[in-house]
Amino acid sequence: MEGPTLEVDRIRCDGHGLCAELLPELIRLDDWGYPLVRPVPVPGPLVGHARRAAAACPLLALRLRQGSR
Ligand code: SF4
Repeated sequence: MEGPTLEVDRIRCDGHGLCAELLPELIRLDDWGYPLVRPVPVPGPLVGHARRAAAACPLLALRLRQGSR
């Protein structure tokens, strides 16, 4: 089974950029400050960080979704 993936709800997100500070390995910001998430399963050692980044999003716009395969 693959690791979980990160998803951004682009309707909710207002570009605080906190997630990119907490998880720069997988999230960077575009020119407008909105997150660009690497479309890969979160590697095992980063799952805890990814969980914390999702929990820290003030708008609940970042989700960690369990892999289905
Ligand atoms: S922390 Fe949440 S609101 Fe802020 S940029 Fe990331 S996903 Fe968007």
